[in-house]
Amino acid sequence: MTTQLHKTLHEEMHFFGGKDVDLCMNCGTCTVICPLARDEGGTFPRRIIRLIQTGQKRLLVKSLDPWLCYYCGDCSENCPRQANPAETMMASRRYLTSQYDWTGLARLFYKSALMEILAIVLVGLFVTGLFVWFHGPMVLTLPVQLNTFAPVKWVELGDWIMAGTLSFFLLTNAARMVWNTLDGKQMFGISPLIYFKAVPVFFDHMFTQRRSRQCGSTRSRSFWLKHLLLVSGYLSMLVLVLILLRWFQTDRIYPIYNPQRLWGYYATLALLYPTGAFLISRWRRKEPIHFFSEASDWIFLVMLFLTALTGIMVSLARVNGFPMTTYVIYVIHLSIAVPMLVVEVPFSKWSHLLYRPLAMYLVSVKKAAAAVSLKTQPEAATA
Ligand code: SF4
Ligand code: SF4
Repeated sequence: MTTQLHKTLHEEMHFFGGKDVDLCMNCGTCTVICPLARDEGGTFPRRIIRLIQTGQKRLLVKSLDPWLCYYCGDCSENCPRQANPAETMMASRRYLTSQYDWTGLARLFYKSALMEILAIVLVGLFVTGLFVWFHGPMVLTLPVQLNTFAPVKWVELGDWIMAGTLSFFLLTNAARMVWNTLDGKQMFGISPLIYFKAVPVFFDHMFTQRRSRQCGSTRSRSFWLKHLLLVSGYLSMLVLVLILLRWFQTDRIYPIYNPQRLWGYYATLALLYPTGAFLISRWRRKEPIHFFSEASDWIFLVMLFLTALTGIMVSLARVNGFPMTTYVIYVIHLSIAVPMLVVEVPFSKWSHLLYRPLAMYLVSVKKAAAAVSLKTQPEAATA
């Protein structure tokens, strides 16, 4: 088998944030330091750097290693060449996201922040335009009648159209990730039972991200807690908006201890606190993992923070009896939330919510398939 080398791979990686790849001398310190390396063999994470240095694009695109790194920064702190291996792993994740995406939009957005912002603004203006032209009557007497201004059945329909659209792009990209990783031939040679048995691994890592707890220092433990909080807030919002919208978007004013309000406030705080903390950390740049931030890192956090902030402002304006303020902020809220979901989930950093647990699932499948192959064809393993 011949290996096609891509001489420009490491230059291309610059656009995705991997700017210090050339400094690596492959000493192996990062492998010794990385708390996750023992699970992944003796070449994690420097193998990825080597693949980039030597232009082995096919092997890079096939690799799951970038998704197995939780960006704790221990390797970068100890690298004798300041080659920033943690940053290279992050850049590789951006690069892989662009390779999985068949539309080319992820690549465009990672290479040009202006295009990403333009896409967000266009989708936001589209949502604002829908409300400007099609909103219901604006009742300015109390109680606030949000469901007259924005009938819940239409908002619900819009939610499902949006969810269907972004799921289509995200899932087709995920299918390409599976195809790239397992190769067509290997994919169909694996027993369906192996795929089935590994399913719990996917959900385990999607909901708990517990592997990140193995990463280095106490700082990483708090990082894990914030991440967990963020995932719980995000999933809560999805359930409230997609499944329970008729209960959640109501004109009734429930007491503060009612589950409808408590769940909404929990989801808001679970989004606001971690995103706020991550934004401050990136702004301060005290930890090695925050020395470098790409535009996509900022856009994703700012959009999520503003979505949660405007969401709670709608609730406060409604409950406290400000009809016009409620309607205006509601439109602003959706004009931020919709592009945040449509642009960021399938084509930008949010996609890691699916790719990371999927990578853990595929690793589990590959290990199980290799174990079966070892049992049935031991001579092939020793050849
Ligand atoms: S990234 Fe740094 S620590 Fe890792 S192999 Fe290269 S030079 Fe050594
Ligand atoms: S950032 Fe942390 S998890 Fe990722 S390779 Fe470096 S040491 Fe390992």
